[in-house]
Amino acid sequence: MHAIPLYAIKAGLLTVEKKGKKNVFSGRVLEIEGLPDLKVEQAFELSDAAAERSAAACTVQLNPEPIAEYLRSNIVLMKNMIANGYQDKRTLERRIKSVEAWLAKPELLKADADAEYAAVIEIDLAEIKEPIVCCPNDPDDAKFMSEVAGTKIDEVFIGSCMTNIGHFRAAGKLLEGKKDIPVRLWVAPPTKMDAAELTKEGYYATLGGAGARMEMPGCSLCMGNQAQIKEGSTCMSTSTRNFPNRLGKNTNVFLGSAELAAVCSKLGRIPSVEEYLAEIGVVTKNADQIYKYMNFDQIEEYAEVAKEVAV
Ligand code: SF4
Repeated sequence: MHAIPLYAIKAGLLTVEKKGKKNVFSGRVLEIEGLPDLKVEQAFELSDAAAERSAAACTVQLNPEPIAEYLRSNIVLMKNMIANGYQDKRTLERRIKSVEAWLAKPELLKADADAEYAAVIEIDLAEIKEPIVCCPNDPDDAKFMSEVAGTKIDEVFIGSCMTNIGHFRAAGKLLEGKKDIPVRLWVAPPTKMDAAELTKEGYYATLGGAGARMEMPGCSLCMGNQAQIKEGSTCMSTSTRNFPNRLGKNTNVFLGSAELAAVCSKLGRIPSVEEYLAEIGVVTKNADQIYKYMNFDQIEEYAEVAKEVAV
């Protein structure tokens, strides 16, 4: 995700300096193509920071199958919401009907073959051999991790709408068996459903055992008003934005992945590429089990409830 501003900077289409700032994304629609089999949760992650680019909107071109998979799950979730008294019932019912209609005849918008673009940024993912971070305190200030390796980290926040359940499992795997980590670690899954599933799978116990403060599911520190990191501290955060003072007064906030944030929480500093790769092996090895998304139609307790809801 942070490769987008980094490659825009390299192409001379984005500058970090406020004076005479150049931002090719500003007010435009950012269209991402080339990864059609991403899960919707992964595509969401790519598009979520479009607001930080000042883009008007963002689209990710996907094949119908991952979208259908997500929507089948979403119908079950919406039926559970109806069963649990969420409002507005009629709106939820209308949405379920629309989603079912789309599933019966899936049609997707596509860019015209001869569409003209303000700029095209090619990102060869095979070229990227290390994490990319956004540096304090500007989400446009993207750099390779090695350029800031060794920076002392005081606090780590794993949470916000940028994260999904896979990120918390990855962090849990990286922190398994760890005690007395050298940072204050804040963990807040974005939804109550994620929190329940992570508890069931034992990740809350692992993260709590490592010393993490398990916060209420939701925006948490990213909102900037529920809790704050210590004044003057330096943080690695998985949230979308690191504007000055958002996470705490006079703080320096790096933005990075949950995997990198977990490694930083073990070391108390940003790792070197070698350190990062040595740590991340445990996640790569268990990737199938870690990066599994919340398919509510395949989770018995949600599927059973949904069966009782007629629309
Ligand atoms: S405040 Fe909440 S919704 Fe907004 S960017 Fe942060 S986590 Fe996402």
